[in-house]
Amino acid sequence: MSQVMHLAIQGSTTGFLVVNRAGRVVLSNPRAHEMSIVHGRTVNPTVMETAAGVFDDLETRTLDLELPKRATGSLVRHVCAVVKPLTLTDTSFVIVYGTDESENMRMESARRDFVANVSHELKTPVGGISLLAEALLQDPGEPEMVMYFGNKLLKESQRMGEMITDLINLSKLQGAEALPDMAPVRVDDVIDDAIQRNQVAADNREIELTRSENTEIKVMGDRALLTAAVSNLVSNAINYSPSNQPVTITQKVVRDDVVHIRVTDRGIGIAPEDQKRVFERFYRVDKARSRATGGTGLGLAIVKHVVANHGGNIKVWSRLETGSTFTIELPIYTPEAHVAVGGLGKGEKQ
Ligand code: ADP
Repeated sequence: MSQVMHLAIQGSTTGFLVVNRAGRVVLSNPRAHEMSIVHGRTVNPTVMETAAGVFDDLETRTLDLELPKRATGSLVRHVCAVVKPLTLTDTSFVIVYGTDESENMRMESARRDFVANVSHELKTPVGGISLLAEALLQDPGEPEMVMYFGNKLLKESQRMGEMITDLINLSKLQGAEALPDMAPVRVDDVIDDAIQRNQVAADNREIELTRSENTEIKVMGDRALLTAAVSNLVSNAINYSPSNQPVTITQKVVRDDVVHIRVTDRGIGIAPEDQKRVFERFYRVDKARSRATGGTGLGLAIVKHVVANHGGNIKVWSRLETGSTFTIELPIYTPEAHVAVGGLGKGEKQ
């Protein structure tokens, strides 16, 4: 039995340390060493200081330890250590339980960054709105000015509305394990809808949107989300192209079970170092231009999440001043393969 106990403690992901009043290590496991609770036979001074307090009053204490980045490659950076008497009757020993909080801390810090980013991004349009409202109120008797500032006010508030919608979509997508509205969707329909949504913007810039022939290929997915994803790519292709340059949307079956939906432009292109980052939330190569085109910096982050939630991939090819091609790869839906999961007999979503 003691052999079993020994093995259990040695292999535990919790760090264990039992120490006496004099600071002698009675028991420790490898995890406690990884967590810097103990080095060799020496207890971490901060832990020992806390243990001394516990020996005095027998009160349990909790300690947060931050570990420096070590060359040894240990990934443990934040440890929560609970320091308590081993038993309440005998005051000779104190036990320390260490848990690795690194992942929690990392997630928490990513969340804080995100909230800080969002707040910052929303402040700009809000600032714009209040300046415009002030300007409008200064000369309310001047119809031309009212029109001028009123229109700007409208545009800025719409931009803010779009950003909020994007943020809500993004947080839904990130939280979702599986999509709720899955049904077989024709890729032809997704492309048609995406083109239709962007037709006015394209006409404004005299950009011709062309598409490849219908294929009748289907994918299993949420039609609204897939349309939003392809539409975001088309909208970017228009926004980051000079007037008169065509944008093409093609679909192609590769191998037996994968379809590529490709949006190609002959626009400004993306430098190699930016290509890795354009899918990050709020990342924009040229903030001023992106703002002028009404961009939120969330479009590609949404595309990436939608595609991932459909079991697919997104890739980018680009060359500065030549153009860009974004490729969505999705698994093809075949009724036979879906019989087992109830794919047959389910009505198609219109
Ligand atoms: P935005 O709302 O700013 O367009 P996105 O997430 O859709 O945000 O895109 C992020 C950034 O990637 C854009 O600001 C732009 O710099 C760059 N980008 C996206 N698509 C293209 C494209 N087709 N051509 C050139 N640059 C692009």
